[in-house]
Amino acid sequence: MKREGMLVIISGPSGSGKGTVVKELVKQDCFALSVSATTRAPRPGEVEGIHYYFYDKQTFENMKQQNELLEWAEFCGNYYGTPKKYVLKQMAEQKNVILEIEVQGALQIKKIYPDCILIFMIPPNAKELQKRLTERGTEDKQTIDRRMNRAIEEMEFIPQYDYIVINDTVKKAAEAIYSIVTAESMKSSRN
Ligand code: 5GP
Repeated sequence: MKREGMLVIISGPSGSGKGTVVKELVKQDCFALSVSATTRAPRPGEVEGIHYYFYDKQTFENMKQQNELLEWAEFCGNYYGTPKKYVLKQMAEQKNVILEIEVQGALQIKKIYPDCILIFMIPPNAKELQKRLTERGTEDKQTIDRRMNRAIEEMEFIPQYDYIVINDTVKKAAEAIYSIVTAESMKSSRN
């Protein structure tokens, strides 16, 4: 019997470089990346359907009501959620689906799918985090401060995660996650 793909959840403060690492990972055929829905405005260069599905609040509310989201959360004043259909379809096709989501959503998924793999990614140090957030140049000072504060709050959830990956370099972090997923797929309990 063919086994379903696994759910791989990657959280970590904005500015931890999750997005870049995930981009590296999904070059491999065994992974599929879930594209989230959000009410946040697109940043320059972000493309509808590739980075996010950008919706207004009402459309997002409708998706919630229609039970179209696997999880959702409010983060720094905007809503974010994972469209359910794509994830379930990819898992049925034996793909390991990567969700790059924040902690509240990650813990909601863990409740529904205890087998999911929770990975928390951190930058090498707090200074580096601020640097990455600032250099991105897409947020104003108030948003950066808000996200820094939220990053500190999110760190408190680390003990609830299965793995911690330090994003020193993209290549090393992607390799670490690949190793985690490979080892998880060999667990006797999954076979
Ligand atoms: P950003 O605005 O920087 O793209 O994302 C802000 C935070 O929301 C990040 O921590 C990101 O991982 C998280 N996020 C993105 N998509 C989702 C989602 O579908 N659900 C949840 N719960 N968080 C998400």
